[in-house]
Amino acid sequence: MKADGAPALIGLRESRVYMDTVVTIELSRREDDDAARRMLEAAFSWFGEVESVCSRFDPNSELRRLIANWGRPVEVSPLLFHAIDLACRGAEVSKGAFDPTVGPWLERAGFTREHRTGRSLPVGLETDAAGGVQDIELDRQRLTVHLRRPVLIDLGGVAKGLALDLAARELVNAGGFAINAGGDVLVSGSNPEGEAWRVGIRHPREAQSLLCVVALTDGAVCTSGDYERQSPAGKGHHIIDPATGVPAGAAIAATVIGPSAAAADMLATAALVLGPEEGLALLHEQQVEGLLIDQRLTAAYTRGFQEYLL
Ligand code: AMP
Ligand code: MG
Repeated sequence: MKADGAPALIGLRESRVYMDTVVTIELSRREDDDAARRMLEAAFSWFGEVESVCSRFDPNSELRRLIANWGRPVEVSPLLFHAIDLACRGAEVSKGAFDPTVGPWLERAGFTREHRTGRSLPVGLETDAAGGVQDIELDRQRLTVHLRRPVLIDLGGVAKGLALDLAARELVNAGGFAINAGGDVLVSGSNPEGEAWRVGIRHPREAQSLLCVVALTDGAVCTSGDYERQSPAGKGHHIIDPATGVPAGAAIAATVIGPSAAAADMLATAALVLGPEEGLALLHEQQVEGLLIDQRLTAAYTRGFQEYLL
């Protein structure tokens, strides 16, 4: 419902489950024709593709096969190469706050279950035997990844953002659209009413409330929060501080707004690990906007973030 009492217009909208989250695509256009269907199918298929290639939970995923073949260069698909390359760059710019090699800590905390089958098939690498980002060697010409030691790579901090960016490429001719992958959102153009898209940011301690709403026409809004996934073993939430190996506590939520969903996704995770001061410094350095919430529910944001606030 809008302020004047008229119901808000809704475009063509569809939801499916991937990566243990609900993915919703909304097109501003309302014609449910063949062209719209084809675009929706193509966009959704990237979520399936990224999930099947990058899953840490499926022993047959390309990522798991790479991990099993550590010790020599392995030729991988362009998609897996790109995902690992992005994650390694994320680690570099965040000076290790974003770290795709926290897999052993995640397994130790009990994050081992495949969401569709419910089966638990961990890699089972001991944390002290496992290698880090420095043990991942990428060859851009040959498209090979060489894990010099056993490295339990986890791409959960970039997979949704990457899938959002790839899905968006399928919708370039759709007019305005918004893709929401469990709170990580990518929008383009205007909404069905011809206005900027509105993205609600969840209150980290009141599940039914919004902390704020941002409005934008092009870009990604990605949020990391300690409320998202809890360890089935009672060992806290799902974002690990690589410096300690236990769940990060410097912030409880971090939101990043930027042009690339993959970058915003990784930077939100990194900012949550770093906390308000260092987190905002990282966002500033990376020329994105963002908001951090600390344990006392105090908000800190970049100067440009306020311009998105409704
Ligand atoms: P997000 O919800 O985007 O913050 O991503 C959280 C996911 O990233 C977790 O479920 C893990 O799969 C993975 N992860 C946890 N800690 C880190 C970290 N420090 N750096 C990179 N990825 C992480
Ligand atoms: Mg993230």
